[in-house]
Amino acid sequence: MPLTGLLAHGELLARLHRELGRRRSQGYLFHGARGIGKELVAEGLVLGLLCERRGGLDFCCTPDQCPNRGDGAEGKRAKQPVAQCDCCAACVQIARRVHPDFDYIALMPKRSYVLIEQVRELIAHLGSKPARGPVRAAIIDDAETLNLAAQNALLKTLEEPPGYAVILLVAENANSLLDTVRSRLRPVPFPTLSTADLTSLLVRKAGLEPARAGALARLARGSASRALALAGGTEPPAQELLEALGGAAKIDFVEAHRLAERFFATREQAMENFELLGRMLEDVLCLKLGGAGAEGPPPDSAGHLTGLADALSLDSILIILELALKAAAAVDAMANPRLQAEGLWTAAGEALRRK
Ligand SMILES: [Zn+2]
Ligand SMILES: [Zn+2]
Repeated sequence: MPLTGLLAHGELLARLHRELGRRRSQGYLFHGARGIGKELVAEGLVLGLLCERRGGLDFCCTPDQCPNRGDGAEGKRAKQPVAQCDCCAACVQIARRVHPDFDYIALMPKRSYVLIEQVRELIAHLGSKPARGPVRAAIIDDAETLNLAAQNALLKTLEEPPGYAVILLVAENANSLLDTVRSRLRPVPFPTLSTADLTSLLVRKAGLEPARAGALARLARGSASRALALAGGTEPPAQELLEALGGAAKIDFVEAHRLAERFFATREQAMENFELLGRMLEDVLCLKLGGAGAEGPPPDSAGHLTGLADALSLDSILIILELALKAAAAVDAMANPRLQAEGLWTAAGEALRRK
């Protein structure tokens, strides 16, 4: 079970496995930022419970390399050569989501929440005894999107789970769940990954040079999936956003609209780029105040950032930083991303012209 993709979470998985072996909770809530390996650990736990060859922490699959996984998560990494995985039948079936004693539900494409029908089907399966293994396991991914009705439907099962059931909820934010649901689950907080962790991940898994890996790791903000996406070529538009900031005094509504369309079109893209903007402004602020940030600015944009620190007044930096933080919070609370971005750039332009 060399779960190389788990980084710092390897220890956590080992602890959970030990606990499951002794006296297990029947419901767990894995929570923490997106893309840091919560689902991988949840699946590692299920593999340990249902693996038919070795089980426990020695389960025979290597999830982050397993070629037996379907095209879901693995498709994104198709460019990398996959090692042969020594999966047993149960591990293969779990990977393919076709094990009779394992249910996995998550947000379906183009949906904004996990559907109550998905939850009901999962509950119905949990009602019947395991067909092959010692337990019946269920993972509910994207649990922060469960609506009130879905959570209430789930609550009855969480209150009186069948003895053989293990239910794992995976959520970005524990507070998005009802108190009554949360109190039935054992919380397992996931820390974000350190820049050093992500750097070694990128060196090992994406074959990057350490310097390049370090620069991308820093952009990934604690998220392994984001780090790997960056390595796969979808770099965030740091330079473009820095240029927009440099010329912010000239931004009119037309330009604000163009920037919104280009970099803030969807909720996900907007969240990432508001965050990126906020982080770059923090770097500019540090430079303005005469010191580098905790990790110093990334080498490839250091020149740009220093230029901005010289060009913008302290007040302007603080105003735009606040606008970026507010816009990110608004989009997180389901506000329209494009409108937020237009508002941000228009307000930034006006603020700079007043100076
Ligand atoms: Zn196995
Ligand atoms: Zn495998």
